[in-house]
Amino acid sequence: MINLKKILLLTTGGTIASTGRKEGLIPTYSAYDLLECVPELLFMASIHGIDIMKVDSSNMQPEYWRDIAIAVHRHYDAYDGFVITHGTDTIGYTSAALSYMLQGLSKPIVVTGAQKPISYFDTDAKKNLRLAVQFALKGLSGVFVAFGGKIILGTRAMKLRTRSYDAFVSVNYPYIAYLERDFLRVFTEHVPNNTGQFKLDISLNTNVLLVKLFPGFQPEIFDYAALNCQGVIVESFGVGGIPFEKRDVAAKIMDLALSGVSVVITTQCLEDGVNLDIYHVGKRLAGHPIISARDMNTEAILAKLMWALGKTSNQRKIKSIMEQPIAGDQNRQAELSFKN
Ligand code: ASP
Repeated sequence: MINLKKILLLTTGGTIASTGRKEGLIPTYSAYDLLECVPELLFMASIHGIDIMKVDSSNMQPEYWRDIAIAVHRHYDAYDGFVITHGTDTIGYTSAALSYMLQGLSKPIVVTGAQKPISYFDTDAKKNLRLAVQFALKGLSGVFVAFGGKIILGTRAMKLRTRSYDAFVSVNYPYIAYLERDFLRVFTEHVPNNTGQFKLDISLNTNVLLVKLFPGFQPEIFDYAALNCQGVIVESFGVGGIPFEKRDVAAKIMDLALSGVSVVITTQCLEDGVNLDIYHVGKRLAGHPIISARDMNTEAILAKLMWALGKTSNQRKIKSIMEQPIAGDQNRQAELSFKN
């Protein structure tokens, strides 16, 4: 008898599990409904299923990330790997959150979804599920996203395209694996090392604000944040530009940070990250307790900030957690190189 590896399929909803109703697409399929659509999976692994929730991922909440992490933790010892089905809209946030909440992983957690429901004849769901299981069977540790023939590190996944089957990109990080015809080329050297004992770490504080600057941005918007938020993420221009002429956004951000709010500066650009030391419009913030997002993507920054704020209210400690690379989420060197 062949000893197949044990995989637990956890479902959360999303298009992959949806069926068409007159109200629109609604997630209805269970784990076993999904498995029935891809019967060959049962020759690849011994797969059990558990339905955690059935939501469109636009409705995914930070509290639900916890439920997913708890489900993995509860069944951790009994399985060799985990595949989680999820709506594509917020996969990047969930995969990042799981990367922080599940510390010291020594098994694969692979999140996947689809642009079209699994019951459609032209669905991408079956390919993505097959890819997720195939990659989970490699036994590499960490959280990953499997989509469109590619495997992306959980802290680096971003939905770039609303309709394409090739919807996701890996931001500022090499792909962990990709399909070449039917062969899965895996780059194990890109999988970050996980140290320490496996543990569940689900602290969260969701009082954060994410703001994108634009020409004409009114700095007074931050007055609301000063009263109501513990953390603010600012998507600045380019490598870290923050306006100070006419509308002095930089001064307001400095006041916000000095009032005790943890302020993270990132960029609106998809690639290369921020470096506040380059231009005058960024350097003005130097010496303030501002957090540099380096080359992290917004999804990871948001999940990490909520997670860090859940552990402590000490601004210095939050800065140190945010600027410490976790689960491959940032590359310190990225800040050192100017432009090339
Ligand atoms: N709105 C859906 C969701 O995120 C989209 C998808 O799954 O592709 O749940």
